[in-house]
Amino acid sequence: MRTVDLIRKKRDGEELLAEEIDYLIQNYTTGAVPDYQMSAFLMATYYSGMSENEVTSLTVAMLNSGQRLNLSDLPGAKISKHSTGGVGDKTSLIVGPLAAAAGVVVPQITGRGLGHTGGTTDKLMSIPGFRMDLTIEEFRNILRQHNLAFNGPTGEIAPADKKMYALRDATSTVESLPLISSSIMSKKLAEGSDGLLLDVKVGSGAFMKKLFDARKLAQMMVTIGRRMNVRVLALLTDMDQPLGYAIGNALEVMEVSQTLRGEGPADLTQLSLELAARMIYLADPASGFDAAREKAAELLTSGAAFTKFQQVIAAQGGNPEVLDRFELLPNATGAHEIISPRAGYVSKINAGDMGLAAVLLGAGRETMDRAIDPAVGIILERKVGEKVPAGGRLCTLYFTDEAHVEEAAQLVEDAFHISAAPPEPRELVLEVIQ
Ligand code: URA
Repeated sequence: MRTVDLIRKKRDGEELLAEEIDYLIQNYTTGAVPDYQMSAFLMATYYSGMSENEVTSLTVAMLNSGQRLNLSDLPGAKISKHSTGGVGDKTSLIVGPLAAAAGVVVPQITGRGLGHTGGTTDKLMSIPGFRMDLTIEEFRNILRQHNLAFNGPTGEIAPADKKMYALRDATSTVESLPLISSSIMSKKLAEGSDGLLLDVKVGSGAFMKKLFDARKLAQMMVTIGRRMNVRVLALLTDMDQPLGYAIGNALEVMEVSQTLRGEGPADLTQLSLELAARMIYLADPASGFDAAREKAAELLTSGAAFTKFQQVIAAQGGNPEVLDRFELLPNATGAHEIISPRAGYVSKINAGDMGLAAVLLGAGRETMDRAIDPAVGIILERKVGEKVPAGGRLCTLYFTDEAHVEEAAQLVEDAFHISAAPPEPRELVLEVIQ
């Protein structure tokens, strides 16, 4: 087999065989195929697309480039969750404990935030002592004991994706449905789950801005899962405004604590319950979705999910008292209020710009090698549809360094739109794809 022939085949729109894709990916992972040939292949894929056979073969090849967890010795259904990324999206920290409290085994290998979107790894690491560098044995032991464990990205899982993603970033080939689908699915399938719930975000704060594109991405990932005998369900959910009121790592952990006590924001609570119910359902479809929904609501009300999260925090080296005593979390030193210039209704909050403002304050990173500040971020005071008087507070920026506060404040002021009439309400769950 010659790499140049495979590139030409893809360039000319022909279908590649599974063994050809495997050859390319395994040799790229070892370094035998150079970056310039892989770049050409990625660009050919960007323009020619991929058939269902090809995208499944690509996912399998990327998955086989590294380790795949074998959790078959753990009793019960293993279901994990993935969000394509949003602003203020802390649902994994609520949904994981809810599903685990219902008896679902939830292995969560999660990413770090990049650009305007936050990452579950960063949020959890804002808890003093919390370890996201567990060995596979430690991860399995915590899963066995508590049904839920989190771990950060490891070099052993889908190393081909790590190399290819960096190359895609540098060659402008990120925005390709087969490349995105195989990238996400190779990492998630490596967790060894029986089922996967995908939360595909749509809107100004999401990777996919349009419902049409999000639907195509979800359909492709569901197809890959089906072909690999993994139950996959995708929800298309709104990310046109931040989820909940908190953006920024420690601030989001505080909001998770409030939500697990039943005192969280309505949108965050509703979406978390919906996602948890879908995971409980995926684990045991025979009991039906209504029973799964009731179970999720009951585990929130009873405090069982809150206790579960405390146990997992302790098991991973963190101090569970942070959920009761927020002063134990990293705290910002300064605050800057954003005031509404006029009376009216909040008609839009551009989630992407809110995320970028949080990055400017230090809550996120532009490139993977940057450090973040766990204490900083934004607390919204008003969400879309709410009334605000002239001079009323829209949100507060929390910072530890004044350097970029003015710039962040400007972005946030422009992100809020105030209108005379209330906007049309928008659904939180836009579609279910299975
Ligand atoms: N997230 C991923 O993990 N991969 C992509 O290609 C895009 C988003």
